[in-house]
Amino acid sequence: MTFATRLKPTLVIADARSEAGDVIDLVVSESAIAALGPNAAGAVAPDVPRLAAEGRLLTAPFVDGHIHLDKTLIGLPFISHIPGPSIAKRIDAEKRIRRELRGPIQQRGGKLIEQIIGYGTLAVRSHVDIDTEIGLKGLEAVLSLKESHGRLVDIQTVAFPQSGVLRDPGTEDLLDAAIAAGADLVGGLDPAGIDHDIEGQLDAIFGIAEKHGVGLDIHLHDGGTLGAFELRQIAARAVAAGLDGKVAVSHAFCLGELDDRDFGAAAEALARADVAIMTNGPGPVSMPPVKRLMAEGVRVFCGSDNIRDAWSPFGNGDMLERAAIVCDRQNFRADAELADAFRLVTTAPASVIGRSQVLQVGAPADFCLLHAGSIAEAVASRSTDRIVFRGGVMLANGGRLLGAHA
Ligand SMILES: [Zn+2]
Repeated sequence: MTFATRLKPTLVIADARSEAGDVIDLVVSESAIAALGPNAAGAVAPDVPRLAAEGRLLTAPFVDGHIHLDKTLIGLPFISHIPGPSIAKRIDAEKRIRRELRGPIQQRGGKLIEQIIGYGTLAVRSHVDIDTEIGLKGLEAVLSLKESHGRLVDIQTVAFPQSGVLRDPGTEDLLDAAIAAGADLVGGLDPAGIDHDIEGQLDAIFGIAEKHGVGLDIHLHDGGTLGAFELRQIAARAVAAGLDGKVAVSHAFCLGELDDRDFGAAAEALARADVAIMTNGPGPVSMPPVKRLMAEGVRVFCGSDNIRDAWSPFGNGDMLERAAIVCDRQNFRADAELADAFRLVTTAPASVIGRSQVLQVGAPADFCLLHAGSIAEAVASRSTDRIVFRGGVMLANGGRLLGAHA
């Protein structure tokens, strides 16, 4: 092997296990993977730093396809959940908490980022509240986190109208300003359930997306055939706007509530427009049937959604746990099903946010070493014995960000 002299290896990971079960080495040079495979480190000089992986599973890092870095209350004393019977009531409760909060978004969001890196997550799509009360302040805070924490994690932002678009007049202009200020995508929220005007909200958010040439990620909780109608509208608009492959719908509970005919029509429309569906494997509501959607050619991916915030006292940002939650909700038990769930928290969200995750020579040396003999075992055991590398630098070990990077 000639790379050893040409590329100056900086690190060797020896005796890891590939997803196929082979014993392999990984060689890092200049933040990238310089060699990968059985005996790949054989020609590397013995003075190059070497980590014995001891059979740990080498995988791509985790990607959280739906998080709310601005909402989390992590790092603050526990704030008891305020029960609320409707989304509208919850929106009001969250605003009350937000007005009284101590601890800026940079601090709370930064704590959450440090926590998820410990679990092996190196990229997120964060929705950020935009409304007429907070304006663009939340977005500015998350964009500053993107700057301050950019060497640790990739952050994509969605301008999210948590209080509705038409329901909170002035929000449409703020969403437009948010994209101009650096948000990556336009969000939406229950065009029927929140704004009571499907055409109106979709006109507004697709108009902004088309104007700026960006994609959309729309929260949709509206159920049954109403939600399915909205999904078909979103898919049709994605095609008409030339935004195929750039639109996602988060939650889409309705997909779990349809008869075969309505499900087939919705899935076909989503697949044709390449509208991706995000699920977090929610608790007491219906959820999109993951395998049926994938069989219809619909991209499905996972995110944490709410983590210790006004919407939920639960969540920790561990995407391996998220994969297991989805398995539980979808009754996935076979190895191949657990591997599907693993892809929902790695390659699937990566494709949605436009990040390459393939571990190959020349790719960035971003990877995890998991304490498991196979992908199925990793999902089943969810061990926090994880070693996390970004650009060939060890960021976390044993579920915690290393002190030097905090
Ligand atoms: Zn959300």
